[in-house]
Amino acid sequence: MKAIRKFTVRAVLPERLSALEPLAANLRWSWHEPTRRLFERIDPAVWQSVGHDPIALLGEVGRERLDELATDDGYVDEAWRLRDELRSYLDEPRWYQGLEGDKPERIAYFSPEFGIAAALPQYSGGLGILAGDHLKAASDLGVPLVAVGLFYKAGYFSQSISADGWQLESYPTLDPDGLPLSILRNPDRSPVQISLALPGDRTLHARIWQAEVGRVRLLLLDTDIPENTDELRQITDRLYGGGGEHRLLQEILLGIGGVRAVCAWAELTGSSEPQVFHTNEGHAGFLGLERIADLIGEGLLFAEALEVVRAGTVFTTHTPVPAGIDRFDSSLVERYFDTGLLPGVQASDVLALGAETYPGGTAGVFNMAVMGLRLAQRANGVSKLHGRVSRAMFSGLWPGFDVDDVPIGSVTNGVHAPTWTDPLLQDLAERVFGTADTARVDWANYDAVSDFDLWGARSTMRAGLVADARARTARSWRGQNPSGGMPSWIGEILDPDVLTIGFARRVPTYKRLTLMLHDRERLRSLLTDPARPVQIVVAGKSHPADDEGKRLIQELVQFAAEPDVRGRLVFLPDYDIGMAQTLYPGTDVWLNNPLRPLEACGTSGMKAALNGVLNLSILDGWWDEYFDGENGWAIPSSDSSDPEERDRREAEALYDLIEHEIAPRFYDRDQDGLPRRWISSIRHTLAVYSSELSAERMVRQYTEDLYRPAALAEAALSASHFEAGRELAAWRARVVEAWPRVSVSHVESGGVASVPQVGDELHLRAHVELGGLAPEDVSVEAVYGRSGEDGLLVDTAVQALEPTTGSSAAGSATVFTGTVNLARAGGFGYSVRVLPKNALLASPADLGLIAVAH
Ligand SMILES: *Cc1c(COP(=O)(O)O)cnc(C)c1O
Repeated sequence: MKAIRKFTVRAVLPERLSALEPLAANLRWSWHEPTRRLFERIDPAVWQSVGHDPIALLGEVGRERLDELATDDGYVDEAWRLRDELRSYLDEPRWYQGLEGDKPERIAYFSPEFGIAAALPQYSGGLGILAGDHLKAASDLGVPLVAVGLFYKAGYFSQSISADGWQLESYPTLDPDGLPLSILRNPDRSPVQISLALPGDRTLHARIWQAEVGRVRLLLLDTDIPENTDELRQITDRLYGGGGEHRLLQEILLGIGGVRAVCAWAELTGSSEPQVFHTNEGHAGFLGLERIADLIGEGLLFAEALEVVRAGTVFTTHTPVPAGIDRFDSSLVERYFDTGLLPGVQASDVLALGAETYPGGTAGVFNMAVMGLRLAQRANGVSKLHGRVSRAMFSGLWPGFDVDDVPIGSVTNGVHAPTWTDPLLQDLAERVFGTADTARVDWANYDAVSDFDLWGARSTMRAGLVADARARTARSWRGQNPSGGMPSWIGEILDPDVLTIGFARRVPTYKRLTLMLHDRERLRSLLTDPARPVQIVVAGKSHPADDEGKRLIQELVQFAAEPDVRGRLVFLPDYDIGMAQTLYPGTDVWLNNPLRPLEACGTSGMKAALNGVLNLSILDGWWDEYFDGENGWAIPSSDSSDPEERDRREAEALYDLIEHEIAPRFYDRDQDGLPRRWISSIRHTLAVYSSELSAERMVRQYTEDLYRPAALAEAALSASHFEAGRELAAWRARVVEAWPRVSVSHVESGGVASVPQVGDELHLRAHVELGGLAPEDVSVEAVYGRSGEDGLLVDTAVQALEPTTGSSAAGSATVFTGTVNLARAGGFGYSVRVLPKNALLASPADLGLIAVAH
């Protein structure tokens, strides 16, 4: 069978239906319900069977049906109307175009995976879906993003479950011609190729696929071309497939090849080159090196180029789990950079960027996240809690700094509302508010939308999930028993009127897929309670190399097969975007029970909330920030250091919440059969959080807090042939050299009475040795606050001290003075510190240098 070559023949459309072509080619259809319905009308059954994929649909339906539609004036008119609507969506000014002031003309967004639609399976989980949502929201807002990733021939794996509950993986290969992709071509129609020099005098070539995601262009690099050896063709075989060298090659291709691809694309299309590069997780981090090499080509030194590149780079860390961070042997990295790959860049400079030179770091290891932080002036985590966790986790890179001063901020993730809001809810909004934009309507308005309507929509979504789960379970059963007759109970699993809890995610250990099984008898009695039953729908994929994860899936699947619970606990194989879109809205409660604080954000709960689902979660990631007592329930985290004990306590808290709070509230009905209290929580969730949890909020925040300042910094350093960039590099070198001689020799204080009172002013005179630096090279600050129990300051504030012209009595020191107001009674403490100061840096901690008074 191996010799069979498969390819896809694209349909030729009747002239009158040619509007369908641009509508299918732009992935905007994936979040534009009217366009989806237009395709669905062609053949609802086929639309369903091809998994909502316009290109596959047009390939499947016969010519006859298309000819018939071409005579249907209503259909043809609607197609052209939507084609025109798409055109204006692509061209008209949007939010970004209305922003006043300087703003970048182009931002490049790099990610190893993109989850845009089930029809383009180039993602494994949260990171990819988030990237897809980021592009869609950027498109809706008019933010000029270009995105870069890899085209994986087999995407991520597809999951099935064996009869004994074991995860089986298959890797159906994708034919790019059957996907919403086109090749980037030169004016002479030849495909654009980028190439990279590899050790052993080899050259790696890649072609570039483009996807149109609304207004955003996504470029995907693909090495499966005849110009490469068989071995090199395999580099983009699958997502997160290999380890070690294979992974390194993918990341070199993504980072270095990706920048080359963006430049080629910009030149061909006459677009401006990006001023800001946003790298997501360490995987794409090599992009900074390619840009450095470019600038070295323009005559800059490595250190100068580094300053310019850092100014325009944003690094987002997406996980605090060590397994999520790529680390390579330094010797392997050295071998790749010791070639002609990046002309002008020394391998030793590359190695220094990824070295774990901090307490607890490992010698000889190259860490992609560490390089990401060193190559970016601006860095962030993906929820407030994750920001704090990241500051602590990476604090070794800023020795001497308080964890709070580590320069890693946070932008909490959001989810793309039009993608993740069930069409039923969009229809309801359209009907009662006159717009399907569910994130912008007033769900709190009882006069517009009644409890009856809201509950009706929620119940229909639940029924939709039940139907989908039955169909999927039946398919899975047939896969396991190709010749056996289907038992009747499969058609009756789940109940559209029963309280439905959903739980779906990848299956790394920290997400604790099987926490709910901790006390099986207790779970069994919740599921089978005659008066207030509960049903649970579970899905999730384990990484193919993670047998522990597969064992957890097996445990769950085997429990779910027991006859008394099989109708109430269902595991659905092959979790993907398509399933997720039915699953989240169809649940009443979305469960998440990670080990705090290992969930960086978690976005499935946000998608659920946009559909009026209440969350039941450990206070981790986004929920730590958004739980308000009314939008769901918090599972208390145990502080036990014994993992078994911790699981036991958290599982019991989970059962207690379901039994004593959730089920009673769900089944508490009035004379109209409505659970009024529950509906008020739904209403509250929709009204308060629909726009807050949306990816638009997230992309606006990235634009204002990170992209615009980064573009300004990059422009400032690049002006006049990089004058300020060169100066900044020289300044940094001077400060680093002088810093060992910088110290606070002593601090005098005065102005307060012997018994200080509120309202007193504390006058400070700090004598600072500058070691040859000028006063304007540093900031001297008093940090003050309440003195806490352990001698640390809490509730701190900062008062800058200014240099005085008179010299210090001690001779060489410079005196800095300032005044602190004692505004509050109680224990008071302060300290004085010196930091390098340069307006061209985003953070005073940038250099990792600090001197503190002793
Ligand atoms: C949203 C989503 C995820 C990520 O959800 P988490 O809550 O972050 O685990 C994973 N897979 C799919 C298909 C999704 O839609």
